Amino acid sequence: MSPLVCFGRHRFFLHWNRRLFFVLIFVIAILNVILFLFIFTYTSAKLVTLEDMSKHLVPARTNLELQYNKKIKLCDLMPTFVNSFMPYPNLTVSGSYLKLLQSKLNIELGGVWQPSECISQHHVAIIVPYRDRLSHLQIFIAYMHPFLQLQKLSYQIFIIEQSDKRPFNRGKLFNVGFTEAEKLSDFPCYIFHDVDLIPQNLYNVYGCTQLPRHMSSYIDVFDYKLPYDVIFGGAVAILKDQFLCANGFSNNFFGWGGEDDDFYNRVTRNGTRICRYEYSVSKYIMLSHKKEKPSEDRYFFLQTGGDRFKVDGLNSLKYSVLQIDKRPLYTRILVDL
Ligand code: UDP
Ligand code: MN
Repeated sequence: MSPLVCFGRHRFFLHWNRRLFFVLIFVIAILNVILFLFIFTYTSAKLVTLEDMSKHLVPARTNLELQYNKKIKLCDLMPTFVNSFMPYPNLTVSGSYLKLLQSKLNIELGGVWQPSECISQHHVAIIVPYRDRLSHLQIFIAYMHPFLQLQKLSYQIFIIEQSDKRPFNRGKLFNVGFTEAEKLSDFPCYIFHDVDLIPQNLYNVYGCTQLPRHMSSYIDVFDYKLPYDVIFGGAVAILKDQFLCANGFSNNFFGWGGEDDDFYNRVTRNGTRICRYEYSVSKYIMLSHKKEKPSEDRYFFLQTGGDRFKVDGLNSLKYSVLQIDKRPLYTRILVDL
């Protein structure tokens, strides 16, 4: 074999090795793109369009059984509206206005209501954590009853008020609300809702979807932009079984921040995705308030949440109820955390 041939062969292999190398790099790059798209598609929130909403909403089984026995027609799972955009909320709600509302809207003591002409396909507990925000509470209550009634829901509003002077604990108040509401009725669907958030579109149906839903996605004070992709605070709708599976909220987040991100981690830890209604539907107004001071240990509890979720939540909840008060427009539960 002449050295020339040998040299030629060597060049030939070098050439192919190089080709193989570039092909490999190309394949790895493609695989990375596919992996990224897969992760992005299956971990980011699913956007539910207006047309698809009725396919995603879950009817309350007990109400369907009720309808079967009573032979009254069912209300639409997803009502239709000629004009679904609500007028701006009345910001000057007086006590006498609220009294008038109660008789006009036929609300039962404790803030309970269901339509009379049909059986609602939704049976929802709306749980609101609360302390010392009376004007927001009045605006919220005056706005929400007509809103929920137009959607033909069967619902009850619970205001869970923290009595003690410790830093506010939103997550624990939600756990208390859930536990106490469970004693009063068999709600298949729960909505955990800040008192200062006002939904603007009637198509934002206050029922549960198959996937846990972040409701307050686009808020006026954030220029109607989603602050970050996995945000799960403000207002959330979740099936009772999914809430139980997450062991509720953590009880450890005293002070502002972190409990909502921790709740996102709990809900999605078994691969469950969250969803959102489309932009035009999930628009909210936030009533103005000063920013609370963020809690300093929120990052610690958030980072270590994964180790604790099995032993910190509904199954470790301890509290004392000081008063359960069936008020004309809501059930108020005063609790010492
Ligand atoms: N909240 C309350 N009193 C407080 C702090 C919070 O009632 O002193 C409740 C209220 O429902 C409020 C929610 O907790 O809407 C979330 O708190 P905040 O509005 O301060 O949070 P942000 O809007 O800054 O996320
Ligand atoms: Mn707020």
